[in-house]
Amino acid sequence: MTEPALSAADALAELLAGNRRFVEGQRAHPNQDAHRRTQVANGQKPFALIFGCSDSRVAAEIIFDRGLGDLFVVRTAGHIVDNGVLGSIEFGVDVLDIPLIVVLGHDGCGAIRATMQAHETGVMPGGYVRHIVELVTLSTLSAARAGRVTVDEVVAEHTQQTAQLLADRSVAIANRIATGRCAIVAMEYTLAEGAARLLTTIGDAGTDTGHPAA
Ligand SMILES: [Zn+2]
Repeated sequence: MTEPALSAADALAELLAGNRRFVEGQRAHPNQDAHRRTQVANGQKPFALIFGCSDSRVAAEIIFDRGLGDLFVVRTAGHIVDNGVLGSIEFGVDVLDIPLIVVLGHDGCGAIRATMQAHETGVMPGGYVRHIVELVTLSTLSAARAGRVTVDEVVAEHTQQTAQLLADRSVAIANRIATGRCAIVAMEYTLAEGAARLLTTIGDAGTDTGHPAA
């Protein structure tokens, strides 16, 4: 691939433009044809990494109107972070040199609802679903402390906490942010409107809310 690397700000602008097309029903379906398939068969140079919820209604390439080779996507229910997630994201930024990580929460998230329900009833879900609830719990606690108690308020809190967790836990990601080679943005997607709005930024993504990583 010979395409020049984008900055985090350029990558974010591309995503926001694609999301605007999606919201307005004007999708261009870029990079989804046989030519593109052949073009990227021997290498990938995605311009953004999307770490979002597994929810079937939040499909990254569709809501940002992108195609093959554009987005490196990692998804877990409630975008919970474990070692496999961190390894996948570190591969994306370190090996593929991706300049922008998007943590993508969404309104009405079932993982958040399940966690809040477990708090209210004291009944833990079975199997490994309990693991998801355990990992979302710190966000629900910090949201409650700040007086944020609705599902969507907790979604916003959890999405921002997830972004901060990536920067705090991964040395590779933190180094990339500190040297200006990568930024993280937390975004919340609304199921009915299809719009992804910016919640917060870690590093420089050309946004007003940007601040350097601690
Ligand atoms: Zn969800």
